[in-house]
Amino acid sequence: MNSFDPSIVKVRSAHFIGGRYREALPGLEVVRPSDGRYYAPLPIADAMMVDEAVESAWTAFRRSDWATRPPRERTRAMRRWADLIEADAATLAPLEAIGSTRPHKDVLGWDIPYVAEVLRFFAELADKHGGQVAATQRDRLGMQIAEPYGVVAAIAPWNFPLSMANWKVAPALAAGNAVVLKPSELTPFSILRYAELAVQAGIPAGIFNVVQGNGQITGDALCRHPRVGKVTFTGSTATGSSIMSTCAQVGPKPVTLELGGKSPQLVFADVPDLEKTARSVAMGITGNAGQVCVSGSRLIIERSILEPFVAYLQGYFRELRPGHTWSAETTLSPIISSQQAERIDGIVQRSRQAGAEVLAGGGMIEGLGGAYYQPTLLSVGDSQSPAVREEIFGPVLTVQTFEDEGQALHLAEHPTYGLAAGVHTADLNRALRLIRGLETGTVWVNRYGRSNDHVLPTGGFKRSGIGKDLGREAFEANLRFKSVLIDIAD
Ligand code: NAD
Repeated sequence: MNSFDPSIVKVRSAHFIGGRYREALPGLEVVRPSDGRYYAPLPIADAMMVDEAVESAWTAFRRSDWATRPPRERTRAMRRWADLIEADAATLAPLEAIGSTRPHKDVLGWDIPYVAEVLRFFAELADKHGGQVAATQRDRLGMQIAEPYGVVAAIAPWNFPLSMANWKVAPALAAGNAVVLKPSELTPFSILRYAELAVQAGIPAGIFNVVQGNGQITGDALCRHPRVGKVTFTGSTATGSSIMSTCAQVGPKPVTLELGGKSPQLVFADVPDLEKTARSVAMGITGNAGQVCVSGSRLIIERSILEPFVAYLQGYFRELRPGHTWSAETTLSPIISSQQAERIDGIVQRSRQAGAEVLAGGGMIEGLGGAYYQPTLLSVGDSQSPAVREEIFGPVLTVQTFEDEGQALHLAEHPTYGLAAGVHTADLNRALRLIRGLETGTVWVNRYGRSNDHVLPTGGFKRSGIGKDLGREAFEANLRFKSVLIDIAD
């Protein structure tokens, strides 16, 4: 039962404020990426509506016991929420799939269990932290007390609507904050169900709120609101810079930014199983049709194994079946919008004109209603090629070759991005040298992609971001530390 009929999915279009749906006049039309059809209107929260949501969060933070209850009780509520999310998969998964690029079977098999587990991970940190006692003079007691910020604003992208929002919401709530989330205007609905389940789980009304709308009006108003103590954002580098600048002007207030990437996958001739490595590389660029921040979009490969490796990649690309997210047969996701597909194609065509050779794909896939792009392999001689420099956010892999390790490292270095990198080699010392040399927030060795080890934080170096999601670091970033000094002399 991995397929479903999209016409029977009921979508509720609203904000979620103070523990209730808040209907409002529509301002935008939302389209299904799979077939390009309009399926629901979306309200846009203006500054007044944002103010209502932030005030609701602030009131709940001050008046409910969310921040002050025994932390283990916060853990319990969040664990109940995770259980409810899993139990709700029959409702939640079609809602997530219909409006996003996530195939329904992947939402059932990965996104929903992942959201629940990340919630549990952060829930478990709620009662496993404290402050510090400082090394003060004998007749004084110095302490640092960890406290939540109050209201955290979270702004999320569209590529994994539930799980990217959850990366922000879960640590902020576990640390005792209230949250106002703005999901992407392209994928706004599934998160409302997630919010409803939070209230059912016993998280006080108003502690978690959702405002709908675009970046220019709603996102901007949220960042500017004086009661918002911190902004946590995932999205493009350009938007992240703009948010940081807004937060500097109206605050300054702290920001966590998870931004774009252009991640290399380095493959050495000593890998023991070429086909397995090629599969891993191919999955690293075609998963969610390349619409993943850490997509391994630049293959950097030892020249001697280029030909057989490319043949394996071409074979894997041919196996992929583009289709609607509600079909169980789909193994290649749609592109989020026709504008984004045109942008992908624009970069591919500009790169061809600049000398890139197409080894696979290189164009749109027609006939499915929505926008789909062929898994594409571009042989590129020049690191200045647009396909090497720009984040494409589509299933496009560039191929560059090297003769030695030094050249591999040189090619891997990107002038702006530093999100993730993959190293495939049987030589442990070489892997360790490259781990040191690569200027990226994550390095995967002989694999490509995250695991369920949520303790490992994720985040970018250079213009790929500031701060971390996941791990203890993401939890602590939602706390601020108060110094206390007490005279205890007799
Ligand atoms: P985007 O920057 O266009 O939008 C992200 C969010 O910001 C949306 O909710 C949008 O409405 C909002 N926004 C836009 N302008 C705003 C403004 N001025 N003020 C406040 N909010 C504003 O990004 P996208 O297209 O939704 O997502 C794709 C991008 O996200 C890619 O660059 C990808 O690499 C990145 N991403 C990064 C990570 C990571 O962990 N580093 C994870 C997922 C996606």
